[in-house]
Amino acid sequence: MTDTVTNWAGNITYTAKELHRPYSLDRLAALVAASTKVRVLGSGHSFNEIAEPGAEGTLLSVAGFPPVIDVDSAARTVRVGGGVRYAELARMVDAHGLALPNMASLPHISVAGSVATGTHGSGVGNGPLASAVREVELVLADGSTLTIGRGEERFGGAVTSLGALGVVTALTLDLEPSYDVEQHLFTELPLAELDFETVMAAAYSVSLFTDWRAPGFRQVWLKRRVDQPLADFPWAAPATEKLHPVPGMPAVNCTEQFGVAGPWHQRLPHFRAEFTPSSGAELQSEYLLPREHAVAALHAVDGIRETVAGVLQTCEVRTVAADEQWLSPAYGRDTVALHFTWIEDTAAVLPVVRRLEEALDGFAARPHWGKVFTTPGAALRERYPRLDDFRGLARDLDPSGKFANVFVRDVLGD
Ligand SMILES: Cc1cc2nc3c(=O)[nH]c(=O)nc-3n(C[C@H](O)[C@H](O)[C@H](O)COP(=O)(O)OP(=O)(O)OC[C@H]3O[C@@H](n4cnc5c(N)ncnc54)[C@H](O)[C@@H]3O)c2cc1C
Repeated sequence: MTDTVTNWAGNITYTAKELHRPYSLDRLAALVAASTKVRVLGSGHSFNEIAEPGAEGTLLSVAGFPPVIDVDSAARTVRVGGGVRYAELARMVDAHGLALPNMASLPHISVAGSVATGTHGSGVGNGPLASAVREVELVLADGSTLTIGRGEERFGGAVTSLGALGVVTALTLDLEPSYDVEQHLFTELPLAELDFETVMAAAYSVSLFTDWRAPGFRQVWLKRRVDQPLADFPWAAPATEKLHPVPGMPAVNCTEQFGVAGPWHQRLPHFRAEFTPSSGAELQSEYLLPREHAVAALHAVDGIRETVAGVLQTCEVRTVAADEQWLSPAYGRDTVALHFTWIEDTAAVLPVVRRLEEALDGFAARPHWGKVFTTPGAALRERYPRLDDFRGLARDLDPSGKFANVFVRDVLGD
């Protein structure tokens, strides 16, 4: 490529010989059919080589397509183009008096890229963002098109697909009536005698943050839907100032706090669409494990607290309801997600990631597909009971493996 293309974090430089941004479906289909290796780049917010097609491959973006966001108010659905980001989608949906059930910590990410990696927010009753998808439109390896809808057998592999089936040109999502949300923040929640289930069920979406410099959590963020009761929260003290999850960062980057009600899409993400999310200079890892292991896993991390704290900006603990996407890290199990925002130093972070994975060994942790991990493919495969079904689907739709890069082949064991 003449211009260097990197991911958002800047830790991955794509080696593909070309980055194409076709403006029409016909052009896209012709490009795919004529290429030998293809990967699609979404908004580039993943921290690993999941989107890397290799030096001989083609990197392709659908961000140049006209941005389709077609809301059907009567059916309460929206059809959204493959390059559209949550920020634009949410504004349009809200303008129709409708809402998505949940969002991630930031609205800057593309919808197609997010659901491809099992991206999630928090909430004991909230599945990953892919749970809202009811239909996927694909351009396949030979340039033909295919739509797969909820209810079809192969739908289980079609949404959280790691980009391995084809180019997602559009998705149709379920919506619900718009709702308002308030954020209530608390500080200093002890780890000792933590009643995890009760704490995490205290609001529609709950996040715990810590820098692991001491046991327990520095911050608790409760996101309450105003159409649901406000629970007492006796375990921590109400925050006395606005907070950013990364200690020392300005709270102005964050969505409104102190119980001020506002539209769902301006409260469910932690970070405002018009600011850099998170710290902006970072790497991230995240491990999703069965929720019944939450307290034991938190104590396991506490056991290596000093090692983790040495390269950590912040750690976030969330819950995700079980879903049915075969490659979803929340597949078939109500989940606790342990997230780590590291410093921007791969050499210093990788040994700590390995140590963390050792500490979490025995909890059947599934790493977030879009973040830094070192878990070998063989161990991953044991943690996904429907992996063979996904492999079969990928072979059916992409017999020559045009969309399979090194990352995907390692996961599938091909
Ligand atoms: C600051 C920050 C905060 C984050 N917060 C969260 C969070 O709260 N929760 C969470 O779960 N994750 C979070 N993430 C991770 C992020 O959501 C995922 O990495 C997600 O995949 C990003 O979407 P993207 O469009 O940037 O994907 P990319 O990184 O561009 O691509 C990811 C995958 O999707 C595929 N893909 C993208 N578009 C298409 C398409 N049109 N067709 C086919 N395949 C496609 C790519 O080939 C690749 O395999 C965060 C990341 C950052 C940088």
